[in-house]
This record gives sequence, C-alpha cells and structure tokens, in this order.
Amino acid sequence: MKRVYMDHSATTPVRAEVLEAMMPFLTLTFGNPSSLHWFGREARKALEEARDKVARAIGAAPQEIIFTSGGTESNNLAIRGVARARREKGNHIITSAIEHHAVLDTCLALREEGFEVTVLPVDEHGKISLDQLKAAITDKTILITVMMANNEVGTIQPIAEIGRLAHERGVTFHTDAVQAIGNLPVKVDDLNCDLLSMSAHKFYGPKGVGALYIRKGTSIKVFNFGGSQERKLRPGTENVPGIAGMGRAIELAVDGMEEKVKHVTGLRDRLIEGLLKIGDVRLNGHPTDRLPNNVNVSIRYVEGESLILSLDLKGIAVSSGSACTSGSLDPSHVLMALGLDHQTAHGSLRLSLGYRNTREDVDYVLEVMPEIVARLRAMSPVYACKTKEVE
Ligand SMILES: *Cc1c(COP(=O)(O)O)cnc(C)c1O
Repeated sequence: MKRVYMDHSATTPVRAEVLEAMMPFLTLTFGNPSSLHWFGREARKALEEARDKVARAIGAAPQEIIFTSGGTESNNLAIRGVARARREKGNHIITSAIEHHAVLDTCLALREEGFEVTVLPVDEHGKISLDQLKAAITDKTILITVMMANNEVGTIQPIAEIGRLAHERGVTFHTDAVQAIGNLPVKVDDLNCDLLSMSAHKFYGPKGVGALYIRKGTSIKVFNFGGSQERKLRPGTENVPGIAGMGRAIELAVDGMEEKVKHVTGLRDRLIEGLLKIGDVRLNGHPTDRLPNNVNVSIRYVEGESLILSLDLKGIAVSSGSACTSGSLDPSHVLMALGLDHQTAHGSLRLSLGYRNTREDVDYVLEVMPEIVARLRAMSPVYACKTKEVE
C-alpha cells in the first residue's frame, strides 16, 4: 500500500547519516565517557564533538549545552531549575495558554509549591499579546516561559521581543524551541533567550535525547543527584549513541535549511488551498506566522478521530491536535485557547510535513480527503440537519 507520512510534528524518522554516526557507540567504542581508558576517551570525544555541533547550530558556546532525555526533560529542568534558584527573588512565573504540556503542567505543578503562575491568553491565531505580557510582569516575576512555535497549530511567537521585555525587568526567559529547529532560524542571541529546549527526534535524530541551552551566568538549581555528568545538572551516564546522533542530526537540519523550508512551504500552501476547497473547512493557527510544515484545519460535521482512522486505511498518517492528548476525549487545550467551540475543535486535523514529502503525496491526500469527508458527513446527524436548513 502507498504510505504517506504527514505527522512530522509527532516524530521524524532517523536519517541514514544519523544512524551511521550513532553505530560506533553502540558497537566498537561503547565506553562510558567517565572511564579513563581508550573506550571511555573515545566516548568522551564523541560527546564533546556533539556538544560543539549543537552549540554551533544555535550560536551558543559548548559549555552552555546540557544533554537530556528530550524536550520534556529539558523543559522540566529549565522551569523547575530556575524557579528553585530564584525563589529568594520572587515566586511569579509567566507562561502561555498554548504551551506543550511539558511546560504548562510543570508550571501548574509549581503552584502547589507556592509559586504564582500567570497563564497568558492567546488571540484567535494563537499569538500572545506583548502588552498583556508587559502588564503581567511584577517585581516578583522570576521566569517567563513561552514556546517559539506551537506544535499543534504552528503559530510562531515574537520570541526576541518577549526576551527583550523579560530582560528589561531582570526576568529569566526560557523558550521551548522543539518544533523550531530545522524549520526556523534559531540563534540564541537573536532570540534574547536564557534557556532553550530542543529534542532530537523532532529533527530526524533518535528518540530519547535532547538538550537544554543555558546561557552563561543563568542561575539554575539541580534536583537530581548522583554523578557529576553534565555539570551535575543532569547526573547519570550519558546516552552517547543518542547524543552523537543528535549532533549529526542538528548539523544536517541547519545545513541547507532554506531550501528544505522552501520545499515544505510550497507543499503546505498547496495542501491548505486544496483542503479549504472541500467546504466548511477552516484553517487554525496564524495565516502567515506559522511553521513552514504545519497545516491544521477544522472540518465541520466530522470527527477528527474518525477522519484519522479512515485516512489510515488509505495509508495516510496524520494526527488530531496533539499526539500526546489523543486517546482522551477532551478537546485540545490549544484549540480551546484559540476560541474554537467543542465541535469545531473535535473536527480538527493536523498534517505536518517533512522534507521527504512530495507533491504527489499532497495530491494523494487531496484526492482521497473529499470522498472520506463526504462519507463521514453523510453519516452525521448534525450535517443532515444543516443541509435540510439550506433546502
Ligand atoms: C515533542 C515536543 C515536546 C516533547 O519532546 P520529547 O522529546 O518528546 O519529550 C516538547 N515541546 C514541544 C513543542 C514538542 O513538540
């Protein structure tokens, strides 16, 4: 069967070059980087080479990169680490309503420890307001955490301006840039951020490995103990094969990014145009400030889950809202924050493109989608009432 994968915001395949970079550390040079012998020294060398590559890709210094197990751990380390380190100065944290759960739930959990959390609303396109942010900052504010690009609707936030506002008031600024690497230019000095989260499996690296950028001089307090790895911020034997893979993957992600972005942007716009032609379909997220690979639509009178299963039967892999929340019946917190009603949110579909997708893939989706939507709508009692009204 023809298979079309359009779920790259959930995860991406490991590139052949990345696997090749990982192999030696699963086989011949399998040493522990803390060991003094040759096996250990080879592993240590790989670790530091990967650190250099990650640092170079985002315009940081190697000492500012800490390897973790992925985006979730990086977000936890950044938020909890800064909150604890700056507790003396204040207890106020600002975030946004459309953050990934790894950010939102971490902030909300800190409420139970006496922190106050302001969750900024977003407009209908998913953008926070800089005026509202400015007004929310108090003398007790210690941390702002706002994502660079949203994983569900693709909206890009004005990160550099947020960072500037934070620094004017002596507030530490963290951004979850997991969806941005390989899709947008990410340079920490241009973004005015103090901490930045990354995850390898979102840019053709392996799963279970990520990194946190921590600007030199940023206070962070550890909460895991056991060893002196990663400057004691992330104790435990390092995932050397994964880290070596991440180093190679970020190099490839940043290399020739413009061309890949141009390719997926073309596919994205063709897909959006075709989907809107189906009728009773709306685009979610920002019309222009959106990830080059993100399409998120609400298709009236159908259920996202039914649509996904029907598309799966045709070999097409997409998702409804966020893969993390599928399996629950609650509509996505992101779509609700954009002001969608329950029914519209439930009929939403996310198609996230990769550089390997082709025009043929897009045309195949556009060919099967109208038939599936028509069939599902024919079974929908709500749709039957609607067509009666029109008659
Ligand atoms: C995928 C994702 C995460 C979580 O990353 P993992 O490496 O899967 O833990 C965090 N934030 C965003 C925006 C994501 O898309």
